[in-house]
Amino acid sequence: MEAPLQKLHDPLLEEHDITLWIKREDLLHPHISGNKWRKLKYNLQAAREQKKETLLTFGGAYSNHIAATAAAGKEYGFKTIGIIRGEEHLPLNPTLSFATSCGMELHYISREKYKLKHEEAFLKELAAQFNNPYIIPEGGTNNLAVKGCAEIVQDINMNYDYVCCASGTGGTVAGIIAGLAGEKQIIGFPALKGGEFLQQEIEELVQHYSGQKYNNWQLITDYHFGGYARIKPELLEFIKAFQEQHNIPLEPIYTGKMIYGLYDLIPKGYFKKGTTIVAVHTGGLQGNAGFKERLGLQL
Ligand SMILES: *Cc1c(COP(=O)(O)O)cnc(C)c1O
Repeated sequence: MEAPLQKLHDPLLEEHDITLWIKREDLLHPHISGNKWRKLKYNLQAAREQKKETLLTFGGAYSNHIAATAAAGKEYGFKTIGIIRGEEHLPLNPTLSFATSCGMELHYISREKYKLKHEEAFLKELAAQFNNPYIIPEGGTNNLAVKGCAEIVQDINMNYDYVCCASGTGGTVAGIIAGLAGEKQIIGFPALKGGEFLQQEIEELVQHYSGQKYNNWQLITDYHFGGYARIKPELLEFIKAFQEQHNIPLEPIYTGKMIYGLYDLIPKGYFKKGTTIVAVHTGGLQGNAGFKERLGLQL
C-alpha cells in the first residue's frame, strides 16, 4: 500500500513561490482510509498477539474511525463492536450502514454516558459485557496509533520545510511530530472550535511515545469554521473548486479546513518564498456520503 505525493499546479502557489505537495494517505486503502489505517495498524497486531477475537471502539454516528474499524475487523478477522454516541436513527446513515455491512455490532449510549469513554470503571464494565475485547479509544488515538502515524513521514524522500495536517484528537499530528524527531516544522489544523486544548494533548502523546519534547510544531486554530461538524457554504465552495481544479476530493470536517487554511495563509505571506509544504490528506471521504444524504450536497 502506498500514499503517493502529488504536486499541485496552481497559479496562486506560483505567484507566491510556494510548492505544495499532497500526501495521499486517502489512497492507502479503499475502506480503512488515511490516518485511520495508520492508527489501527499496530493496534490490530497487538490485538492478534493478545489473542483477542473482538475489537471494541467508540464514535459518533458519522465517525471515520467507526467505519475504518468495522472494515479492518472484516478484513483481518475480528468481530467488531461500535459504541455509538446518541440514539439510534433508522434507517442507518451511510457510515453506520457500511459498518454493519462489515459485521460491526452497534450499541448506542447516551451522550452523558459517552463522556465516560476514558474512565477505567466504564471500560471494565464494557470488557465484562462484551467478553473482554481489545478496546480502542475514540478516534483510534493511543500510543500504538502514534507509532503508526510516525510512519506517515517515513517515506517522504525529498526536501521540504513543513508538514501540515488536520487534527481531531491530535494522535496523527503527535505521530508526525515523533516521526520527524525535531526535523522540519509541523502545523496542526484543529477541526474543533477551541482547538487550543490540543497543545497539551499532543505534547503528552508525543512524550508518552517518544520520551521527548519537541518545539518544532504549532497549532493554527483559526480554521474550525464554527466547530466540528459545522458546514459553511464558503468551505463547500472551496472544496468543490479544489476538486475541480486538482481532481483531489476533500471533505468538510478535516482536510477541507486544512487546505482552506493553507490557501488563506499563503497569499497573506505566512510562508516565506521558496517554502515547500507537504499537506497530509488524511482521508475521511466516507463521511461525504452522509453529507450528501443529509444536506443534499454534491461533493
Ligand atoms: C480522524 C481524522 C482526523 C483527525 O485525526 P486525529 O488523529 O484524531 O487528530 C483527520 N482527518 C481525517 C480525515 C480523519 O478522519
